[in-house]
Amino acid sequence: MQEILEAIENNATPQEIEGIKIPESYRAAFVNESDQEMFQGMDSKDKDPRKSLKIGEVKTPEVAPDEVFVAVMASAINFNTVWTSIFEPLPTFQFLKRLGKESIWGKRHDLPYHVVGSDASGVVVKTGSAVRNWKVGDKVVVHCNYVDDQDPSSHNDSMMATNQRIWGFESNFGGLADLALVKANQLMPKPRHLSWEESACNALCNSTSYRMVVSRNGAGMKQGDSVLIWGATGGIGGYAVQYVLNGGGIPIGVVSSPEKAEILREMGCEAVIDRREKNYKFWKDDVTQDESEWRRLGKDIRDLIGEDPDIVFEHPGRQTMGASVFVAKRGGLIMTCAATSGYMIEYDNRHLWMKLKTIKSSHFANYKEAYEANRLISKGAIQPILSAVYPLQEVGEAAYQVHKNLHEGKIGVLCLAQKEGLGIDDPEFREKIGEDKITLFRRKNA
Ligand code: NAP
Repeated sequence: MQEILEAIENNATPQEIEGIKIPESYRAAFVNESDQEMFQGMDSKDKDPRKSLKIGEVKTPEVAPDEVFVAVMASAINFNTVWTSIFEPLPTFQFLKRLGKESIWGKRHDLPYHVVGSDASGVVVKTGSAVRNWKVGDKVVVHCNYVDDQDPSSHNDSMMATNQRIWGFESNFGGLADLALVKANQLMPKPRHLSWEESACNALCNSTSYRMVVSRNGAGMKQGDSVLIWGATGGIGGYAVQYVLNGGGIPIGVVSSPEKAEILREMGCEAVIDRREKNYKFWKDDVTQDESEWRRLGKDIRDLIGEDPDIVFEHPGRQTMGASVFVAKRGGLIMTCAATSGYMIEYDNRHLWMKLKTIKSSHFANYKEAYEANRLISKGAIQPILSAVYPLQEVGEAAYQVHKNLHEGKIGVLCLAQKEGLGIDDPEFREKIGEDKITLFRRKNA
């Protein structure tokens, strides 16, 4: 990989890069199948990614005709890497086994180790024989929608494909590594004004929020819509706030500290709720919710914006869903994509049907949505929300920070990139957008 890195650093030509042999093994972050029982009987919060995530050499797989190898300069932590590393809600080896049964190419993924990571920025270093639109030397970012395009169900909206997967979570050879194996239809151009790590942190969360807020497959938000955003400085929330503001909506951001509240205000979100300060207790105990606490949240929202939210951007799940259904406006939409605090959801259905509200689900984004979301990053309309950067060697600690909600925005991971700030190809455009805007989360976390 050293030779490849030097070639990238020295702006080698595509021909020169093509001449470098892909190494037989590469450095990667992975979990071992033999460790999948290691946290048995422990509470979720005590399961520690630092114990299960390993760094080491893994064997380079063969490249399929529709795939490329990307030399990964940087990657990022997503919550799915936390799930894989604590083997919840189920060990991801089951996904790899299922993929292994699909085809001879799928079989490569069924291994006793799972190379994780669902984001990456880097350089294409080898293309499969059927790849048309990308070539060796292209600087790219990778989105994580892993789709079999020979299946009719994948056309129209590829998120509806019966065997749709998330790369690096439900497939092997993910982005938290020096080399990644991806389908050519996962590639998008790297934003030229951003560094490797600023480019790498966006695709998963930015595309998810784009589909949830902007796309007609999601909320299709219109000008003037008010949107309650849980975890508004978290991974998906930090992009959702930007989409609401860009689209002429009114965000109400919920966070859990004054520092996060300050970031939100600096982003232009005027209506801010600090849930820790408010100390909402939506659950009286493990089985009983407290409607008066839902009402208290509803009143706080009305005090801030004078009305109930048209849309609720929902992902904490069990802890908040009852409140989310309650506070949405009559005819409003609860847009959900996750359940961080528990997936067995309970809400009062009377508040849903009597007020004609809708719960709609969303999951990542199709290629077109991911491409459009990436285009907005490239145009400087959406900013990366990178708050911290770790070397690949410390990936366990980086995942631990996300697991424990000790972070803001996105945590980047340097893979082949030796330090932060490399890879910026258009400094003039960067200056035009403004360093302050691009590095807001990083500065606040410094
Ligand atoms: P994140 O960076 O950890 O941010 C989530 C934020 O939610 C936290 O920062 C926290 O903010 C807030 N939160 C956590 N627990 C909460 C609770 N009990 N009540 C209220 N707020 C709570 O994670 P993320 O990347 O944004 O992902 C959020 C969830 O979405 C995860 O479960 C992830 O797996 C899922 N996800 C799904 C998709 C998909 O395609 N389906 C894509 C991306 C992410 P405060 O403490 O500041 O309130």
